[in-house]
Amino acid sequence: MLKITFLGTGTSHGVPVIGCDCAVCTSTDPRNHRARCALLLEYDGRQVLIDTPPELRLQALRAGLKRLDAILFTHAHADHVFGLDDVRPFNDRQGGTLPCYGDASTLRDLRRIFRYVFVPTQPGGGKPRLELRRLNGAFNLHGLTVRPLRVIHGALPITAYRFGRFAYVTDVSAIPDETAAELLDLDILVLDALRYRPHPTHFNVAQALEVVRRLRPRQTYFTHICHDLDHARVSAELPEGVALAYDGLVLEVER
Ligand SMILES: [Zn+2]
Ligand SMILES: [Zn+2]
Ligand SMILES: [Zn+2]
Repeated sequence: MLKITFLGTGTSHGVPVIGCDCAVCTSTDPRNHRARCALLLEYDGRQVLIDTPPELRLQALRAGLKRLDAILFTHAHADHVFGLDDVRPFNDRQGGTLPCYGDASTLRDLRRIFRYVFVPTQPGGGKPRLELRRLNGAFNLHGLTVRPLRVIHGALPITAYRFGRFAYVTDVSAIPDETAAELLDLDILVLDALRYRPHPTHFNVAQALEVVRRLRPRQTYFTHICHDLDHARVSAELPEGVALAYDGLVLEVER
């Protein structure tokens, strides 16, 4: 069994948006409060994170996260990496280094953005201890088969992940045919659906529903959601087998 926890389901601004008085940003429905996107995978006593958003500390506290075995990165945009420094308590508790997986461009960006981590500095300073590992096809992560897949985010090729009968596809505006072929026969698909209006680097709801028709997963959860989408109202309009994810949602899937 693979346990999946949505630590964040919001777009890069988060919801509520700073200074915004719209109905969703002022909503009392907790499902309309969306931290930036991250996912926690738990299996066989292992904890693996997908992305390290700016609210990582709060998300880890909320989820009661006590250890971390690895981080899988989708890409290096600010909303997916700016919480990386918050992994230091896991370093302190566990010792050693934390494996961070990403494609070549993501790892290059991490080295640049978090330069202080990778250059020698005075001893005793509190820096994350990370081990960058470049993705190179499917691999076994403590008994879980991780299958990285290429998707297109505006002009940027980024990484989606499949684990058995579950796939996580965020920050996507196009799915190449060869990747679509790898996303068939899923029990659960998590898919980017930013808002109703089109966007240059994200699927909108109509495009995401088109992908659902193409891939036919048993159940789909939309994520990376902006403040245009009210949870209850949009949920009522979505077809059967499609739902909005929300922060704190927990799923279990066979692997
Ligand atoms: Zn994003
Ligand atoms: Zn708003
Ligand atoms: Zn992005």
